[in-house]
Amino acid sequence: MGTCRICQQECSEDQQFCSNCGYPLTAFPPTLGEIPQAFQEILSQRERWEQNIWQKYEQLQRQFQQLQQEASNNQQLQQQVGQLQQEIARLGQKLESQSSSQQQEEVPLKSAVGYNYTKLRYLLAKQKWQEADEETAKAMLTVAGRDNFLREKDIDNFP
Ligand SMILES: [Zn+2]
Repeated sequence: MGTCRICQQECSEDQQFCSNCGYPLTAFPPTLGEIPQAFQEILSQRERWEQNIWQKYEQLQRQFQQLQQEASNNQQLQQQVGQLQQEIARLGQKLESQSSSQQQEEVPLKSAVGYNYTKLRYLLAKQKWQEADEETAKAMLTVAGRDNFLREKDIDNFP
């Protein structure tokens, strides 16, 4: 058993290359004789450089996997948002068709004192807020039996 000098993977003696990073594991053949010191130093410098590159490569690989994970999470979120948007649109259509079918029924809306609220309901359904406001004011004056403004007493006794 030996350890790869680049990635520290455990390798068996009969392996020529590291099974993890592919670095050559074989020692120099004895026929080369004694290897000069200067050449040894160049070799070990080269090995340190290769170790550095390998560490950076592994770091980048981890970052890439993280990014892939985040991208797939984002995709799932986007799908969920899309489903929710569809659901909201569906509910909106349902509400619209319900309010228009209620309008067609024309149930007379009269208060106890005889004011007809049908016009107000129509304006609210059509989202004509300003006209609906004016109609509300008119309705309150009529119901309270006043001509142009409400007194505090009128509001307290509003039917
Ligand atoms: Zn290796």
